Amino acid sequence: LLQLFIPLNNLGFVYREMRESLINIERMFGLMDQHPGVPDREDAAHLAPDGGRIRFEGVRFGYQPDRPILRGVSFTVEPGQKVALVGPSGAGKSTIARLLFRFYDVDAGRITVNGQDLRDVTQHSLRAAIGVVPQDTVLFNDTIRYNIAYGRPDASEAEIREVVRRAHLDGFIRELPNGLDTLVGERGLKVSGGEKQRIAIARVLLKDPPLLILDEATSSLDSAAERAILATLQEVAAQRTTLAIAHRLSTIQDADQILLIDGGQIIEAGTHRELLERDGAYARLWRYQEGVIR
Ligand code: ATP
Repeated sequence: LLQLFIPLNNLGFVYREMRESLINIERMFGLMDQHPGVPDREDAAHLAPDGGRIRFEGVRFGYQPDRPILRGVSFTVEPGQKVALVGPSGAGKSTIARLLFRFYDVDAGRITVNGQDLRDVTQHSLRAAIGVVPQDTVLFNDTIRYNIAYGRPDASEAEIREVVRRAHLDGFIRELPNGLDTLVGERGLKVSGGEKQRIAIARVLLKDPPLLILDEATSSLDSAAERAILATLQEVAAQRTTLAIAHRLSTIQDADQILLIDGGQIIEAGTHRELLERDGAYARLWRYQEGVIR
């Protein structure tokens, strides 16, 4: 699983040992709002994400000063397009997503959304503009309704029904004893990996953010369910500026641009077709994953 560690030192010792994954980002927002990892500037502006162009310019970053993780990363996600990050474990893919959330500030270079440097905008407005679909959503011990709407508690019944339909959760919910009011989690109903992911999709649809982070690895699902989820994810990503973190190349062939990250640098960039024609590291990875080379 992609682990997304959040700086929790300032949240008190209870949380000090806690490692949250990409999954829990949204759940952490309540805490992070009160104790932001990186403080807002006093004159921080509201992020105006309309259009939503994401740009990394010469970004360098390390969690510790003596251990650089990103070594000069530059790329642009054009409004409404999808850029996929692939590469070996530890390459820095999740770090790029964390920096987009501004859990940390870059050491050099800059990250902008529509030209606004992340360091100049409020964390609240930044995080309001980003939706996350993790591969393994953690659910609250509460109702399905709460789990779908907690990011937007003011959502109307009609809005909830609409996102349930668009996330293809209606069949699942119809089978439940109390429908949307069925309890889930440790003390309630067990929910499958695919259903959890659909709940995360429903959340994002309700939040309706212009920017999206997808963790597309769906290794826990069988291939028919996986194809159905991928189709739904494509619907969610359409019209949104999307950064996708992928483990398997088969899920990102439709990306407008694929960035192969290794050792904290982009070593190849292009569409799936361009990268295959180039016959470099991506093409080798592709042939390996397709089982051509064993
Ligand atoms: P994976 O596909 O395995 O999730 P990744 O490409 O997403 O890998 P990152 O999670 O970005 O890789 O990690 C990049 C490097 O940064 C790794 O060497 C990792 O050990 C290190 N790292 C990640 N989080 C922290 C942290 N909170 N403190 C120190 N080092 C970290």
